[in-house]
Amino acid sequence: MGQQPPYLDPALPVADRVTDLLGRMTLPEKVGQMLQLNAKEGVRHLVEDLHAGSILHASPERVLEAAALTAGTRLRIPLLVAEDCIHGHSFWEGATIYPTQLGMAATWDAGLVERIARATAVEVAATGVHWTFSPVLCITRDLRWGRVSETFGEDPHLIGELASAMVRGYQGDGLDDPTAILACAKHFAGYSETQGGRDASEADISRRKLRSWFLPPFERVAEEGCRTFMLGYQSMDGVPITVNEWLLGEVLRGEWGYTGTLVTDWDNVGRMVWEQKIYADYAQASAAAVRAGNDMVMTTSKFFEGAQEAVAEGMLTEAEIDAAVRRILTLKFELGLFENPRHPDPARQAAFIGSSAHAALNLEAARRSLVLLTNDGTLPFAGGLETGGLETSGEGRGTGPEPRTVAVVGPNADDAQTQLGDWAGSSGQADWLPDGQPRAMIRTVLDGFREKVPADWTVSYAPGARILDVGPDPEGEFFPDGQPRPEVVVPAAPDPAMVAEAVAAAEAADYVVAVVGDRIELIGEGKSTATLELVGDQVALLDALAATGTPLVVVVISSKPLVLPPSALGAAAIVYAANPGMLGGTAVAELLLGLIEPTGRLPLSFARHAGQQPTYYNQVRGQHGTRYADLTQSPAFAFGEGLSYTTVTYTGLELLTGVVEPDGTVRARVTLTNTGSRPALETLQVYVSDTVTSVTWAEKELKAYEQVALEPGESRQISIELPVSVCTLVDARGHRVVEPGRFELLVGPSSRNEALLRAEFTVKG
Ligand code: BGC
Repeated sequence: MGQQPPYLDPALPVADRVTDLLGRMTLPEKVGQMLQLNAKEGVRHLVEDLHAGSILHASPERVLEAAALTAGTRLRIPLLVAEDCIHGHSFWEGATIYPTQLGMAATWDAGLVERIARATAVEVAATGVHWTFSPVLCITRDLRWGRVSETFGEDPHLIGELASAMVRGYQGDGLDDPTAILACAKHFAGYSETQGGRDASEADISRRKLRSWFLPPFERVAEEGCRTFMLGYQSMDGVPITVNEWLLGEVLRGEWGYTGTLVTDWDNVGRMVWEQKIYADYAQASAAAVRAGNDMVMTTSKFFEGAQEAVAEGMLTEAEIDAAVRRILTLKFELGLFENPRHPDPARQAAFIGSSAHAALNLEAARRSLVLLTNDGTLPFAGGLETGGLETSGEGRGTGPEPRTVAVVGPNADDAQTQLGDWAGSSGQADWLPDGQPRAMIRTVLDGFREKVPADWTVSYAPGARILDVGPDPEGEFFPDGQPRPEVVVPAAPDPAMVAEAVAAAEAADYVVAVVGDRIELIGEGKSTATLELVGDQVALLDALAATGTPLVVVVISSKPLVLPPSALGAAAIVYAANPGMLGGTAVAELLLGLIEPTGRLPLSFARHAGQQPTYYNQVRGQHGTRYADLTQSPAFAFGEGLSYTTVTYTGLELLTGVVEPDGTVRARVTLTNTGSRPALETLQVYVSDTVTSVTWAEKELKAYEQVALEPGESRQISIELPVSVCTLVDARGHRVVEPGRFELLVGPSSRNEALLRAEFTVKG
C-alpha cells in the first residue's frame, strides 16, 4: 500500500478519519465544504474555486460533470448531491411521480407513505443524488399559503406519523445501504405561521405556541433519526431562524440531543443582509449563522468570502467552522461516499426508475388519496360496475348495466402536468424538463375514463373553461437576489363558447364529471393566493353544468382546499383529488365507476370563504360567540371527513377504566358496523379533550387513529389504548405536562363534534 492518507482508510473509525481530513484542509476548503450551491449555472466554478461541499438542482449531466471534477480536486472530498424529491424523483424524466404530500396525507396510511418514500429513494439513489429535501413538516394554518400541497395537512399528530414513516422510507436500513438517501425535515420551524398566508412573512409565534403544535412533529422525526433538518426562512420575534440560538441550540441540539446536520433554506444567510436587513454585511451574517449552529449554507455564495473575512476579523474562530465541517464530513463518511461516491448507475436506473412495480404502488397511493366529500347516491355510476372490494385491481372493464355516456369536462380533466402539482417536471424549479414528465406515463381523468369504462359506454370531452393567463410582475422580472419573480396571474376571460361546448356534452350524457381546480401558477413558494375561489371561468362552467340537470360529479384537482360554489356543493357528488400523481386519473375513473372504494379522509379542512381563515379544527378555546355575523365559522368540510360507498356506524363507546393513573393507559372500546352493501376501510379517529386546563388549549386534539376494514354487514369491536402521557398540554411556562382531572375521549369518523361519541375519564392527581 502506498502513502494513503488515514482519512481514506475505511478501516479507521469515522471520527479519526474526520479529524485527519480536517487537519489537511485549508480555511477556504473548510468554508467551501459548508456551501451547498446551485448547479444550474454550471459546476466547475463551484467545485474548483469555491470548494463546494454540496450542490443542488443539478441536471443529470451536471451530476456527472460535478463527480468528474470532484475526483480531480486536491483532497477528493465527494460532493453531497441534493434535490427536492418530495413526491417521487421530481425532476428526473420518467421517474415515478406520486400524489403530493397532501395527497399522501389523505390516505392516513403511514405504511403506504413509508413504501412510497422507500421506492422514491431507490429511484433517487440510482441517479447520484444522496439527499432529498423531504419531508415537509409545516402545519397548514392558512389555506392562502402557496405551499399547502407540500404539507401533510393541519394536524401535528398525523404529520408526525406520516413524516416519520417517510424518514424511515428514505433512509432505509441505514446509510450504508446504497439505496438509502438522507431525509431532511423542513422547514424548522413555524414557517407556515404566515401573516395572511404570505410566504415567509414574519411568524407571529410564541415559544409556547411552537412547543404546543409546531415542534412535536420535528421532535418525532429527530427521534426517528432524520439525518438533516432545514431551517425556515422566516423570523420569529425578530430573530431569523438561521440565527435563532434558542431554537437551534437550546431546543434542537440541547433538549432533543439532535446530532444531525443543519442546512439553511435558500440564501437564508444572504437574506439576513439584503432582505431582513439585520446584518450590514456578509461577514457579520456568516459569523452569526455559523455561531448559531448552521452546518450547510444553501446558495449563499458570498458566504465563501464572508466567513473567511469573519475569521480574519476575529468575529468567528476556525474551531467554530471546524465543528460544522466535522458534521458534514461525518455524514459523507457514514454514507461511505469516500469508498463509493454513489455516482449515477445506468443499470439501476433502467431497472427501477418508473418501473411497473413503482407504477403499481403509485396507483395504490392515488386510489387511497381520493376523498369523497359528498354523494347523493349517484356514485358509483350505474350502481357500480362490480362490487369494488378493497383489494380489487380496478380492472373490470366488463359490460356495464346498460350503455351510458359520461361527459368528462373541465380544465383539469386532461391536463397531465397540472395533475402532478408542484415540485414535479415543469413546475418551475428545474430547467431541464421544459415539457414536464413524459405524457405517456400520466393518466388524466379523461384517460382514466377512456381506459376504464365498459366497451359499450361512451366518453365525451370538452375542456369547458380556462383557468388563467399570466403576465409580467409589474414590480420587475427579478428579485434583488437575482431569482426570477413568478409571473402574476390574470384570471382567464370568460369564454361562453367553451362553456357551451361542455354544456352540450353534459346534455347529451348520462353523467357529467367536471374536473376543476388550480394550476401551477397559483401554487408554491411566493405564490400564495388572496382568494380561494375557483379561478377563471370555472364557477360559470359549474353553474351552467348544474343547470343542465345531468347528474354532476365535481372532481377537484387542486393543491389545496378551495372554496366551492353552491353549484358544486349542491352537485351529485364531490371528490377531492389533491394532486394525485401520474396515475391519479385512472384512480378517479375507477372510483367514480365503483371499481374501487373511496377510503381517503381529509388531512385538513375546506373553508366556505377565504375570510374564514383559519379553519383548522384544533383551535384554541375562547372567543366571543361561535360565528361571524354574516357567516358560520364551520368549515365546508372538516379535518378527518370523507365518505365511503357504504355507511359505518359507531356504537357503544365504553371506557374500561374511568379513573387512570398519570402513568397509566386509557382503555376503551367501540363497535363499528358496516351497515351498507359495499366494503369499507374506515379511519377510526380518537381525539382527546382536556375539559379544564391551566392555560387556554385546543378544544380537542387527534391522538390516535386506526384503519379498519369492514365487509358489508360486518361488525367489529375495536379496542382503543391511549397512554395518558399523550394527553398533554403546554403550560404557561412552556412545559409539556399532563394535568390531572377530567378528560373526554372522542371517537368517531371525523373531527366534527356531531360525528363523535364521547366518554369521560379522569386522570388521578
Ligand atoms: C424551499 C425549500 C427547498 C429549497 C431547495 C427553497 O426555496 O423553501 O423547500 O428545499 O428551496 O430547492
